[in-house]
Amino acid sequence: MEERSIHVIDIPKKIAVGYGILRRAGEFLKMVYQRERSVLVVLGPNVYSRYYHALRESLENAGFTVSYAIAEDASVDTAVRVANEAKESGAEIIVGFGGGKSIDLAKYAAKESGKGFVSMPTVASHDGITSPFASLKGFEKPMSVKAKSPDLILIDVDIVASAPHRYNMAGFGDLIGKFTSVRDWRLAHKLKGEYYGGYATSLALMSARHVSSYYKEIALGTREGLRVLLEALVSSGVAMGIAGSTRPASGSEHLFAHALTIVAGNKPLHGEAVGVGTIMMAYLHGLAWRKIRKLLKRVGLPVTARELGVTDDEVVEALTIAARIRPERYTILGEKGLTREAAERLARKTGVIERA
Ligand code: ZN
Repeated sequence: MEERSIHVIDIPKKIAVGYGILRRAGEFLKMVYQRERSVLVVLGPNVYSRYYHALRESLENAGFTVSYAIAEDASVDTAVRVANEAKESGAEIIVGFGGGKSIDLAKYAAKESGKGFVSMPTVASHDGITSPFASLKGFEKPMSVKAKSPDLILIDVDIVASAPHRYNMAGFGDLIGKFTSVRDWRLAHKLKGEYYGGYATSLALMSARHVSSYYKEIALGTREGLRVLLEALVSSGVAMGIAGSTRPASGSEHLFAHALTIVAGNKPLHGEAVGVGTIMMAYLHGLAWRKIRKLLKRVGLPVTARELGVTDDEVVEALTIAARIRPERYTILGEKGLTREAAERLARKTGVIERA
């Protein structure tokens, strides 16, 4: 069936990772956009006070007119409001400048309004900064929806280096998740006949392997380490663009992370919860889960419920509901999900909850 269907690949036109990018943003936008001249920047109050002035200056020097919108919350309503603002003000390009929230709002607003989209992450916390998928509140379920791939990704390593270390390490956890997500995808292909892309799989897996071999530099937060981490996040985001779904980057470990958000709120960062989920799902997949656990520990990421700031019970509860969050996304957790007993055994066995 899928051999005859059309597969569309949506990937960025240009990606720049390096130093002094902020000052040169206008130059890069000019390379990608020939006719468009009006920019709306979506950003949070903190990024606004630290970097907006410099960004505006760079864009204005390159001949763009610039306005901004403050990212209030990562909801569909706010994204639609940003889209309307872009339409009313005549902006042709929407720039998401900041963490996941600003970027997801800009991404979705750009799709809604048919405008250009530029992603300018200020932190290396997850691969949504480069993927065509937006994760916003207000849909029925906590999942990402297809928005659009950035035309341009601009990453200033100096800005990312000044972001809180914990947030950047979360990106490492998000990438480690690819060890299990690609296994879940292959399983769904074998058991459910789902489309499976070997190339997207290799690319996603490479990003996890790459950061694993550079874990020391990444843990130290050196410029070199951050650059490796950022490039791996880009490559994982592009893998989703090539796959046409979040499949290569999001499997059972992500279902667990989403479930934990439902059960325990936003206490752990996304990538932290994904990391712990990966330990447990790697165990189920028969992968080297102890190695994954050690790797996470070495960069200072949580490996237990306590370190995540949640209770043992919340981890068990999240494991039992994880499979039902997205029933169409088949994973190692099966269709009905884990029983309480199975969930508890899994979490104990992998040391995520205290051994009784
Ligand atoms: Zn993720």
